Amino acid sequence: MKAYYADEQKRHDPKAFLSSGAPQPNPEQPERVERLKAGALAAGCSIERPRDLGLGPIAAVHTPEYLDFLEHIFERWQRIEGASKEVIPNIHPLARTGSYPASAVGQAGYHMADTACPISADTWNSALWSAWSAVDAAEAVLSAEPAAYALCRPPGHHAFADVAGGFCFINNSAVAAQVLRGRAARVAILDVDLHHGNGTQGIFYTRPDVLTVSIHADPVRFYPFFWGHADERGEGPGLGYNLNLPLPRKSGDDAFLEALHTAFRRIRSFAPDALVIALGLDAFEGDPFGGLSVSTPGFARIGEAIGRLGLPTVIVQEGGYLCDALGANLTSFLSGFGASHHQSR
Ligand SMILES: [Zn+2]
Repeated sequence: MKAYYADEQKRHDPKAFLSSGAPQPNPEQPERVERLKAGALAAGCSIERPRDLGLGPIAAVHTPEYLDFLEHIFERWQRIEGASKEVIPNIHPLARTGSYPASAVGQAGYHMADTACPISADTWNSALWSAWSAVDAAEAVLSAEPAAYALCRPPGHHAFADVAGGFCFINNSAVAAQVLRGRAARVAILDVDLHHGNGTQGIFYTRPDVLTVSIHADPVRFYPFFWGHADERGEGPGLGYNLNLPLPRKSGDDAFLEALHTAFRRIRSFAPDALVIALGLDAFEGDPFGGLSVSTPGFARIGEAIGRLGLPTVIVQEGGYLCDALGANLTSFLSGFGASHHQSR
């Protein structure tokens, strides 16, 4: 399988985030890339550099106001006397009105959901290349590759149309789905990250052409708290086109597989022409976030089950944090997927 990744994606190097009010080292470390690259190579992937594909495919799912903010906020922030080295918001609108703040501090609050997505000098460039990896993987699938893997880092699924959050800036899975929509009438996104794909849900919430399905740790006591509940089903023409399958904390392989089969029933009824997998590996039992308890062989079972759908598939990397098995979990997923996908087509 072809994999896409550019070295620029590694330059974004967030230092801190707040966890239970305390500053902690940010877990979305550049080193993740090395582990994931090794994992992809071990699964037989060939890694290619994506092309510079311009802002078009990104602007198809994000607002121009937000993209302008992401591109320029670091430089503007540095002009504030005494400002931190990273853009981190200290105020958020309780509810947005039509007005848009003019100041860098106001806009940071407006466009950043939490403190886990600090913006530094290299963030915009890394996020762009991460998105282009997703675009090129989608283009490869449109031009007859049965499947492709985008090693997206920084990740994307917590980014809404105009809000960053949870280590995410540009929603790579949404960008890939929208590129596929260019030639596919219906696209399904299946998010298997430990955390609910709230940004992806938000982007497509009122649309019937992109089905969004997410399996994740129950947000009642887990990030992202305000989204990911089973009663969020879509809105307007999108009603019935969003499915959330929250799992109790520490659920293992079997519970995950069972939720996956519920997801497949909805996906089959939607009859998509193409599939995007938002592949978080943080549901792993040894991941620092410790929310679910999927094992390394469990990822092979998950990949194998998804591959059996036999759909043209773009696999987009989301979460999965530094632990000894990070690369092995990717190898496990991709190998399981590759074996059954090949037979199902
Ligand atoms: Zn996650």
